Amino acid sequence: MSLGDTLKPFSAWKHLFKEPLSVKKPLTERPGADRYRGFHKNEIDKCIGCGTCEDICQNAAIDLVPVEGIDTKEGDSGLRPQIDYGRCCWCALCVDVCTTNSLTLSNEYTWIEEDADKFRFIPGADNKSWDHNEKGWKKPENNYEFYALERVEMQERHAEERVQSFIEIIKGYSKEKAQEEADRCVACGICTATCPAHMGIPEYIKAIREDDMEEGLRVLYETNPLPEICGRICTHKCETVCAVGHKGDPLSIRWLKRYIADQVSLDKYKEILGSDGIENNGKKIAIIGSGPAGLSAAHYLSLMGYSCTIFEKLPEPGGMMRYGIPEYRLPYDQIDKDIKYIESLGVKIQCNTDIGKDITLAQLEKDYDAVFAGTGLHLGRSTRIPGTEHENVYMAADLLREITMGKEIHVAEKIVVIGGGNVAMDITRSLARKQKEIYGKVQVITTSLESEDIMPADREEIVESREEGAIINPGWGPQSIEIQDGKVKGLHVTKCLSVFDESGRFSPKFDEAQKDFFEGDMVVESIGQGADMSYISEEYKDKLEYNERGRVVVNKEFQSSIPWLFLGGDIIQGPDVIHGIANGHKAAIGIDNFLRDK
Ligand SMILES: Cc1cc2nc3c(=O)[nH]c(=O)nc-3n(C[C@H](O)[C@H](O)[C@H](O)COP(=O)(O)OP(=O)(O)OC[C@H]3O[C@@H](n4cnc5c(N)ncnc54)[C@H](O)[C@@H]3O)c2cc1C
Ligand code: SF4
Ligand code: SF4
Repeated sequence: MSLGDTLKPFSAWKHLFKEPLSVKKPLTERPGADRYRGFHKNEIDKCIGCGTCEDICQNAAIDLVPVEGIDTKEGDSGLRPQIDYGRCCWCALCVDVCTTNSLTLSNEYTWIEEDADKFRFIPGADNKSWDHNEKGWKKPENNYEFYALERVEMQERHAEERVQSFIEIIKGYSKEKAQEEADRCVACGICTATCPAHMGIPEYIKAIREDDMEEGLRVLYETNPLPEICGRICTHKCETVCAVGHKGDPLSIRWLKRYIADQVSLDKYKEILGSDGIENNGKKIAIIGSGPAGLSAAHYLSLMGYSCTIFEKLPEPGGMMRYGIPEYRLPYDQIDKDIKYIESLGVKIQCNTDIGKDITLAQLEKDYDAVFAGTGLHLGRSTRIPGTEHENVYMAADLLREITMGKEIHVAEKIVVIGGGNVAMDITRSLARKQKEIYGKVQVITTSLESEDIMPADREEIVESREEGAIINPGWGPQSIEIQDGKVKGLHVTKCLSVFDESGRFSPKFDEAQKDFFEGDMVVESIGQGADMSYISEEYKDKLEYNERGRVVVNKEFQSSIPWLFLGGDIIQGPDVIHGIANGHKAAIGIDNFLRDK
């Protein structure tokens, strides 16, 4: 090396006192090309904080962070993406994957800051000059998607076949179909927050993708001990918020749950779930009612070592899942599978035992360390219009129970059903099947106060009822049942203009000029059910607190003001199986907290 080479680095010192050549701001603004990928924009109210953009970013340039003024609510985590331009490479993968299309890139590329740490911001929340810049990069519409927007179709029986019997309608996914459907999940977990039991939905969907049914079953049982049942009839609120549902069909979360449970035979459950040899803690719990709330409480309590006995007044366990929900939606052998596993944990189910009559609550208090009551809503409510006292006017819940029990029920050739909820659809479709069997044709007309757009029944139930031959004629108020020569002739109705007042209170308004008559030799009322709490005798009733709706007040762990008495399910919260399961689980934790140190 020459002397010149050695001294060269020192020659750089001559630039020390020169004006820098770089400029702080471009002398002339040069706009980016129309589709240039510049800084991010986010429609903050459209974004749901699913974090899919964060997950896909290969540079870890995105963090989901809380934002003032944005609250966590169903279907929205309340978080929003924050971009770190020290890491972002402007690949736009985050934009292309965004489940709501809220995230885009402007074509702005100039941003000057003294402090390098400031190149981190929350698009849409931190105001920027490019917020209203229309140019830049958006995911091209109808071009490509990272996940399929359409649901994998479920095989169902056709209406003509369905109405011939009570055989299950839904056939279930094959492995290929289940994996194809599972592939659509972006694993955001938005659904988990909405599920009343907070099931690990993305985790069990992942297990399907990986064809690991054992892991899938373990995830299901962490929060739900009735997966065959819920996999068929869950009200699937989770699906209403699924991130994929913003651009396409939400995931078939319910059918995927069913797929897992269907793949594993009952004899493998204990080994997979590791529930053999649980040590008994010597404490005894009485559970009144074998519906989802009681079964769930029994399941989780027995895993904690408690001896549980369920007292059930009907001949078989399952509550409304067996005696309300028709077999074509929920076959009895699937109910049995879920319940048999719970029994295999040592839970005793004593059927045909009516608490309050066969055994008093006071006796349970004496014999057990704690009591959980999940007795449900089994008393049918009547419209009390003239004619309802006739013997051919029935309650939907009573008829559904008798159908399950295999009793001969009265089925007229022409039937009118009053009610617009799912129970009304269940009795409509059950009676349609009975009519088909007896008379060879369906003649059921179902009417509700609510117009079709606000009928509480699920859309698919209304559609399928019609497909099976029932007439659904909503928007009428029942006035009286016509009885001639001691026989029911039909239902007089008046047009219902609105059901609720401005404050949302039930206050139906009618147009007296519009009347109609629905012919029928039998009327079924399906306008809701009430609780029979007569098993709680006066001495206990006085010690309980009640809310303005007359329901017993319980704390977050479903404990009443009588410390050993816990209540849950429909009598406290409802209105569905998954709430019953969640209530039973929380009550089990509450009972354990109450008894652990005693
Ligand atoms: C026709 C119909 C269809 C439905 N469809 C769906 C659906 O598709 N999806 C869904 O999620 N939910 C559905 N539901 C609602 C769901 O069935 C209930 O929300 C759920 O079963 C309530 O659970 P639970 O444990 O509180 O009570 P229940 O399931 O009602 O069980 C209570 C049990 O307690 C027993 N019992 C009551 N009193 C006593 C006593 N004194 N002694 C001993 N035992 C007693 C009863 O016999 C019953 O077996 C439906 C309900 C009906 C009526
Ligand atoms: S993917 Fe879209 S909706 Fe989800 S957090 Fe990111 S910007 Fe929001
Ligand atoms: S099912 Fe839907 S909401 Fe749930 S994790 Fe998958 S994409 Fe997200």
